[in-house]
Amino acid sequence: MLRSLFGISLLIYGLSAYGQAGKPLPAVKIIATGGTIAGEAATSAQAGYTSGQVGVETLIKAVPTLSKVARVSGEQISNVGSQDMSDEIWLKLAKRVNQLAAMRDVDGIAITHGTDTMEETAYFLHLVAKTRKPVVLTGSMRPSTALSADGPLNIYNAVAVAADPQAVGRGVLVSINDQIHSAHDVIKTDTTATDTFMSPYHGLIGATAYGVSQYYRGPFKKHTVQSEFSVDNVNSLPRVDIIYVYEDMPGDVVDAIVKLGAKGIVVAGVGNGNMPKAVMDALGRAAKAGVVVVRASRVALGFVGRNVEVDDNKMSFVAAEELNPPKARVLLRLGLLKTKDPKQIQTMFNTY
Ligand code: ASP
Repeated sequence: MLRSLFGISLLIYGLSAYGQAGKPLPAVKIIATGGTIAGEAATSAQAGYTSGQVGVETLIKAVPTLSKVARVSGEQISNVGSQDMSDEIWLKLAKRVNQLAAMRDVDGIAITHGTDTMEETAYFLHLVAKTRKPVVLTGSMRPSTALSADGPLNIYNAVAVAADPQAVGRGVLVSINDQIHSAHDVIKTDTTATDTFMSPYHGLIGATAYGVSQYYRGPFKKHTVQSEFSVDNVNSLPRVDIIYVYEDMPGDVVDAIVKLGAKGIVVAGVGNGNMPKAVMDALGRAAKAGVVVVRASRVALGFVGRNVEVDDNKMSFVAAEELNPPKARVLLRLGLLKTKDPKQIQTMFNTY
């Protein structure tokens, strides 16, 4: 009796831990940070909800079919709405990703995260994760309690991508709404729609249908193992603020930020990273005082190149290329850990 029960449980284990060819399934670690994907509402049909309520084990249990694509285990790093993502969580997450990725029995890492700042966290990890193994972020637009919650399939697909040998070496990815994006390119484009994430300038890395993916390309710029940035001995990141430029904006906003101790300023400029003269003069003063100024754009698409309407050479400014303001802020903060020289930082923007 005992032997036959043992036999049945071995068979069940065998079915869940082994793939069709009898090879063990890839091992994927799920790191949960919070977000709407872990959110709860009082009813299944209401707009109001609270992010970061349910834990990683509940997220895993909600997708029993995960055991068909990988051997999954979970850990909780934080449980916050990503509007409350912080340097402390970023550094803890990046260090843990590097530890896990170095383990022989981990094949890939899936990270659940709120969608509001997912593009920033993904790009941060893209620059500091020292691994070729897949690191894949996902989230959801609807809380776990909602009608047609999008979280379970997004988790299923993200784990499948994290387990997929074809995803190796493609940098940090965002798998959401059946699409695979590069952390470098992806942006949130809609406040509420489930197809909010897009890579409008460069296009998708790939697409997934119920765990089966096709890949179209790799990232264009350097990342992960080719990146010069590391958070190994880093316990804090330099302050960098973003200013959003508008009609008749005064320069004193810039002076105030410098007084508050910013080491860098990212300008979400109008058009091709432009700004009124008062703001330009104030940023010139800031640059002379050693604050690194990066020109990005408040426009969703396009790149900001050097010396178009602004004389970057004369002003000692840096052009953000195709990074949007929050991603330019990520790169500038990592760059400032190494240098305050705008020329060297411009090279980083051309490289990453
Ligand atoms: N505010 C939420 C968050 O970023 C939104 C979401 O996850 O979709 O955590």
